[in-house]
Amino acid sequence: MIIVMQTGVQEKEIQQVVTRLEEVGLGVHLSKGEFRTIIGAIGDEKIVRAMGLEALSFVEKVLPITQPFKLVSREFQDENSVFTVGDCTIGGDQVVLMAGPCAVESEEQLLEAAVGVKAAGAQILRGGAFKPRTSPYAFGGLEEEGLKMLARVREKTGMPIVTEVMDQHTVGLVSEYADIVQVGTRNMQNFYMLRELGKLNKPILLKRGLSATIEEWLMAAEYIMSGGNHQVILCERGIRTFETYTRNTLDLSAVPVVKHLTHLPIIVDPSHGTGSWRWVPAMSRAAVAAGADGVMIEVHPHPEKALCDGAQSLTIEKFTNVCHQLEQVAAVFGKHIKKVTV
Ligand code: PEP
Ligand code: MN
Repeated sequence: MIIVMQTGVQEKEIQQVVTRLEEVGLGVHLSKGEFRTIIGAIGDEKIVRAMGLEALSFVEKVLPITQPFKLVSREFQDENSVFTVGDCTIGGDQVVLMAGPCAVESEEQLLEAAVGVKAAGAQILRGGAFKPRTSPYAFGGLEEEGLKMLARVREKTGMPIVTEVMDQHTVGLVSEYADIVQVGTRNMQNFYMLRELGKLNKPILLKRGLSATIEEWLMAAEYIMSGGNHQVILCERGIRTFETYTRNTLDLSAVPVVKHLTHLPIIVDPSHGTGSWRWVPAMSRAAVAAGADGVMIEVHPHPEKALCDGAQSLTIEKFTNVCHQLEQVAAVFGKHIKKVTV
């Protein structure tokens, strides 16, 4: 339920409601907007109804949240959530560029990629150390060694890193290194892991499950948020359809739908979304035009030698061109790409 306070409500009046909700064992989330304060009461709706809070002069109304996802919902928080990572913000008026190789293969490869994508304009470096692979015989990542390389390259370039966690036992390890912890498509409904991520105090990049509906995806975000971590960034990365020409079908309609349903930022991964470097520039531009808060693009200094996802990786040169295009698209929609100092 949400308790909408009258405009001009006093701090002590807000506290009075918060205390009453806490006394009956409800979770409380306070959202102070420019004009309105909204108190979210998390727990049994019947209890909130029975409290008769509307009788208080400083309470405007008490409303149920109609969606199955609560904390995630725009009913719960009208203003966009904006998270700070390094010196950029995600969810506001910036379009954030995350780029780097699919997998960390060696420190040289990672550094070359990082220097290249940074010079092109990317603010955040991506790279998997734990790789979910369909075949057990494929390269599965350098694991902790890869995380250490990411940390050293962050040290050298100043770029924050986003990297994937694959199970609940390594949440602690990965979050020690990562600035943004990535949940891959295959783990979107790994509920034990989502619960662990809910205990962290850093942004989680939650990829859409490869066959997940938008509602299932938002319910996964709710798992993380209900644990106390409200910093969830959604990532559309394509879904399974009957189409086989592209690796997945990039559902760009998810961007405006998610923006309508939630206050959380959403970024788009056109690399996994299409499976071919050829389609990445167009889908990146389309993602920004659709209102995405950023894109995550696979870039490899030598895609032909990549141990993972070379076919969908852009060269540094191609990525540089995409960045120039995205600057122009962002500007059309009143957004900008924050310049990084190289
Ligand atoms: C990735 O980004 O490295 C990745 C494995 O993506 P996805 O989970 O979307 O397949
Ligand atoms: Mn990949």
